[in-house]
Amino acid sequence: MQTPHDPLTTGTAQTAAAAPFPAGPAPRRATRQVHIRWDGNVVAVGGGAPVVVQSMTNTDTADAIATAIQVKALALAGSEVVRITVNTAEAAKEVPAIREQLDRMGIYVPLVGDFHYNGHKLLTQYPDCAQALSKYRINPGNMGTGKRRDDNFAQMIDVANRHDKPVRIGVNWGSLDQDLLARMMDDNGRRAVPWEASAVMRDCLVVSAIENAQRAESLGMPSDRIILSCKVSNAQDLIAVYRDLSGRCDYPLHLGLTEAGMGSKGIVASTAAMGILLQQGIGDTIRVSLTPEPNGDRSTEVVVAQEILQSLGLRAFAPVVVACPGCGRTSSTVFQELAASIQGYLRAQMPVWRSQYPGVESLHVAVMGCVVNGPGESKFADIGISLPGSGEQPIAPVYIDGERSLTLKGDHIAEEFQALVEDYVSRRYGAPATAATTTTDA
Ligand code: SF4
Repeated sequence: MQTPHDPLTTGTAQTAAAAPFPAGPAPRRATRQVHIRWDGNVVAVGGGAPVVVQSMTNTDTADAIATAIQVKALALAGSEVVRITVNTAEAAKEVPAIREQLDRMGIYVPLVGDFHYNGHKLLTQYPDCAQALSKYRINPGNMGTGKRRDDNFAQMIDVANRHDKPVRIGVNWGSLDQDLLARMMDDNGRRAVPWEASAVMRDCLVVSAIENAQRAESLGMPSDRIILSCKVSNAQDLIAVYRDLSGRCDYPLHLGLTEAGMGSKGIVASTAAMGILLQQGIGDTIRVSLTPEPNGDRSTEVVVAQEILQSLGLRAFAPVVVACPGCGRTSSTVFQELAASIQGYLRAQMPVWRSQYPGVESLHVAVMGCVVNGPGESKFADIGISLPGSGEQPIAPVYIDGERSLTLKGDHIAEEFQALVEDYVSRRYGAPATAATTTTDA
């Protein structure tokens, strides 16, 4: 007889009441929706829109050609909004030229101007720059102090209002408003049990963002043109700050771990922090701030941001290649090479495939190293290949839609499998062939 604690009884009861093992992120936090526009291209942020991927150039903006080339590369990699530094008169003068070059190349990605210290002057003195940008990033901690800071902030909001541009009020741990911090530290000292200084700083970030957003609204900026961010460089601080911020306002939030670092350190730290927040429904647009290797590819930060969102099931950008890690059963690097080449091939096709084959971003491909998990994992994929491990017959069965369809062997398995993937994509995602019209003469 089964007892009330019998796992079988419990499991059956759960099945009847609700689906067991619920998986997936929490519902997105409800926010207003902000539109970032350029020439008919509208990127919606928050308010139920998909989480937006952003990136930032590291070229000298005064070098219009180099900047336009990098913006194009970031946009083709999948960045839906690109931020550029606007720090000098020379940079501000070149912004319209960058915009024009991008438009000529058919790259309509919205550009965001990143301003510190002198944004109020540059946006006022170079109205063509103010117009060519689709959004302004304002750091209230870098605008002077006291009345001068308030005036500079008001001037930037005035320009944004006149040009109908949204803003991101981006507060940063490294450039916190020192007046506000001093005031909050004083208030903390009067608490019966004062908080730790780090907690006051986290609170100060949140208060600074919200107070400045309210100030922008009091200066006439509509609330649906304001995005907030509170960037810090430590994962736990980021999680704490955004949890708090998300509960205290309904502006869309831009997520990012600032100064995340290089290589795997930067990728892991960003993924750990943003993954937890995104899973909780927090974050409407993200940027992965990776320090590139010297001469490294800036677009890596776009790919990582996409992979964070795709791994969490929040968006799909490119076909997924499931590959096993390999082990003592693999005696060669063939399957590693095949996994890498298929992944590179699929990603390289995406700029064209995205419009040619709608839905192809949800394709699953498996490349497995031996018979242990190869056939099983390949059957779960749309198309999969199980390569021979050591001691196995030198053949590679291919599974299509869960069925073993054919077997590859010889020296050209990689090329043949790639051709099979290409054929599968065109058959499954291509436009159905229209029946030929035959005219018969009477
Ligand atoms: S599928 Fe085979 S080769 Fe790959 S990790 Fe598993 S046992 Fe090793």
